[in-house]
Amino acid sequence: MSFESLGLEADLVRAVRDQGYNEPTPVQREAIPAVLAGRDLLAGAQTGTGKTAAFALPVLQGLAASSQHGKFRPVRALVLTPTRELAAQVGESFRIYGRHLDLRATVIFGGVGINPQIAALRRGVDVVVATPGRLLDHAGQHTVDLSKVEVLVLDEADRMLDMGFLRDIRRILALLPARRQNLLFSATYAKEIRQLADKLLDNPAQVQVAPRNATAERVDQLVFPLDKRRKREFLSHMIGQRNWRQVLVFTRTKHGANRLAQQLERDGLSATAIHGNKSQGARTRALHGFKNGSVRVLVATDIAARGLDIDQLPHVVNYELPNVPEDYVHRIGRTGRAGREGQAVSLVCAEEHDYLAGIEKLLKRELPREVVAGYEPEAPLARVAANRGRTAGNRPQPGQARRRRGRGRASRAAP
Ligand code: AMP
Repeated sequence: MSFESLGLEADLVRAVRDQGYNEPTPVQREAIPAVLAGRDLLAGAQTGTGKTAAFALPVLQGLAASSQHGKFRPVRALVLTPTRELAAQVGESFRIYGRHLDLRATVIFGGVGINPQIAALRRGVDVVVATPGRLLDHAGQHTVDLSKVEVLVLDEADRMLDMGFLRDIRRILALLPARRQNLLFSATYAKEIRQLADKLLDNPAQVQVAPRNATAERVDQLVFPLDKRRKREFLSHMIGQRNWRQVLVFTRTKHGANRLAQQLERDGLSATAIHGNKSQGARTRALHGFKNGSVRVLVATDIAARGLDIDQLPHVVNYELPNVPEDYVHRIGRTGRAGREGQAVSLVCAEEHDYLAGIEKLLKRELPREVVAGYEPEAPLARVAANRGRTAGNRPQPGQARRRRGRGRASRAAP
């Protein structure tokens, strides 16, 4: 199957060829013809599936077909994203895929000066990629006119709702013309997403693709049961001993991410935290360092990591399990590298056993556990093990664990 056969024009096909894409991904195969036909779309697809091109290519083609090259260029396509990083990436994709077309895209997000954005909007742009808050600032100051928008894309809609953007989205919808095409992309379908989709979409084409590493056929998953207070030491030990070079570590909170990155630095590992409280510059630098290898460990919250173009990693670590099981699937979907297996490990303390049970229920399977000598938990993952029989054949006997605790790293292990 080729990009041409989906109905894309030569200029767009050339641009994707320049990127080295040989054939469309599943979400592109299904979404592009539907969007070109002018239909609304409900797409279940997460980062890494090629979803950005799935909407950017047909949107660009639609805009090019009715191009308004006059002096005044109204905003005709609006893409909303939850995070600045995702907005920047999506904006960049529009620029790359649209390089042979006479169309302009700009990116609008908070945390950076507003004046360059105002200047870009004043010059006239066809596509705006924005986070909701800053877009509303512009609307409030009348520096953006959304009354000519023909296509609206909600990218990672589930995450936008998680981040509390529903009210902002509603306020933005009120600024758009009633007649328009609506595309909604979401990795998950909670009730709120269905409600939003019902309200927003008119007889949508529906596309559902599995995450690229659909619950981990290619991802080797492992649970390390251990005590909470020993997690940091264990992580440093594993990274060093197994010589992991590029590790994405997930924590639940921003504060936890900062603290862990600092502690890892003290352990001699180059580590940086990435989360919503960091300035745009700091986040970009951290991501850059991680990609080029100068930062060995990137510690991230789910929200900060979502939408980042950092996948195909060899190692993902759940330092803390997410309380939403779907987030686990998103996290581990980052691993797996060009056909090789990736590894996703979870450091799980007794307090997290309910989260683990929820994840295993979603995956419909039990994750293998490995207790590492010297790190046996004082409090085993009781309920999970009890519920599921003796899954952890390698779970140490209480006596064994106690004996081992008395040795070696005992100074930290003393109760
Ligand atoms: P996305 O899901 O939009 O975040 O895309 C994930 C990655 O896949 C990006 O780095 C894209 O450049 C890449 N990509 C998108 N479409 C294709 C394709 N058809 N073939 C190969 N790579 C692609």
